[in-house]
Amino acid sequence: MDYTVRLIPERKRIALVAHDNKKQDLLEWAAWNRSLLAEHELYATGTTGKLLEEILGTSVHKFQSGPLGGDQQIGGKIAEGEIDFMIFFWDPLSPQPHDTDVKALLRIAVVWNIPVACNRATADFMISSSLMTGEYQRLVVDYQPYRERQVEALVEETMEELEEELGLAHI
Ligand code: PGA
Repeated sequence: MDYTVRLIPERKRIALVAHDNKKQDLLEWAAWNRSLLAEHELYATGTTGKLLEEILGTSVHKFQSGPLGGDQQIGGKIAEGEIDFMIFFWDPLSPQPHDTDVKALLRIAVVWNIPVACNRATADFMISSSLMTGEYQRLVVDYQPYRERQVEALVEETMEELEEELGLAHI
């Protein structure tokens, strides 16, 4: 498999999300790591972001609340290469109205090889890693063959359909 290299800069763009039963966990973790987090740019779903601003006394880029589209917005930013790192404390014991969005966000983070912490222990290991203090070369699968294969198949199929329906001569 081929890979491309994307750079995670020294000052990282960190997305933080916590479900309601996990917000206390995230706020305690963020307060404990206040000085480390201050070296990076913070993004969050609406309610999580508002609470983080109060606890940390710093500004956070806030998206919509998670169930109102915030998870999808963060996923979009990951796909656009504008989020480097994610702390996502999802609740394993409560059903969520936006369960599909949660799954999609976790999936897209894997697609783009973004570091993700889903609990405090992982977040502790990640934030204290020596990789936090410099640039990191993130390997991302080269999706170009996938993109081209899809397009070729679709064009071929459409051409065959048109030839059949409209009686077009094959060129
Ligand atoms: P919230 O969203 O920060 O707006 O509560 C979190 C989520 O449920 O994804």
